[in-house]
Amino acid sequence: MTDSMTRLREIQQRIKLAARLIHRPSEAITLIAVSKKQSTADITLLHQAGIKHFGENYLQEALPKIKELCHLDIQWHFIGHLQSNKTRAIAEHFAWYHTLDEIKIAQRLSQQRPTHLPPLQVCIQINIDHEAEKSGIAAEQLESLALAVQSLPHIQLRGLMCIPRASASPEETQQSFHRLKLLLAQLQQHPLIQYPEKLDTLSMGMSADLELAVAEGATFVRIGTALFGERK
Ligand SMILES: *Cc1c(COP(=O)(O)O)cnc(C)c1O
Repeated sequence: MTDSMTRLREIQQRIKLAARLIHRPSEAITLIAVSKKQSTADITLLHQAGIKHFGENYLQEALPKIKELCHLDIQWHFIGHLQSNKTRAIAEHFAWYHTLDEIKIAQRLSQQRPTHLPPLQVCIQINIDHEAEKSGIAAEQLESLALAVQSLPHIQLRGLMCIPRASASPEETQQSFHRLKLLLAQLQQHPLIQYPEKLDTLSMGMSADLELAVAEGATFVRIGTALFGERK
């Protein structure tokens, strides 16, 4: 219990220091607590400490937790890989979807988003290090997917997400984050993008590399282990 509060303060301090180094206001970076494999009791504690954004990877695990905690003002972020026949639950229960990599999924999410909710906020996942096993699109496919997504009425494209190669050195990881930042900047400049000011989101950085991500402009960092301890 005290542990998770100590870890939260440590993470907030790490974000603050990393932001200060490059003269970014630390409020520009939002912490997503990645609560996969963690209990609703631990989520509730962090929520009481002021954390409003939680990330989940597995739909079967997330849905009962979301239901149990529906009395709390939590914004749920889906950060896992999704099969296209599972879109409805995302459209109905999440505020953000970070891992879009297929137009078919975007179309379904838009169709299935309940109209009483604000549009689903979406990031496109880029397979930034061209890994065969990883989800996400190649950078070369970004333009066509982004232009198709922006015409859908009930989802809002907000930016890009990546997970660098796990075995990369810190220098290589930072270069990957840098490439993601450049891709977003290019997209903002694209003449056919209608609302470039809405493309304000870089979802990058996890427990081990959040400083590198903040240095390259991350607006969401997704932190699991360093916040909750090892996953059960
Ligand atoms: C699990 C996960 C995280 C959190 O990773 P930690 O190393 O535990 O901080 C962040 N992003 C994604 C996409 C994840 O799957």
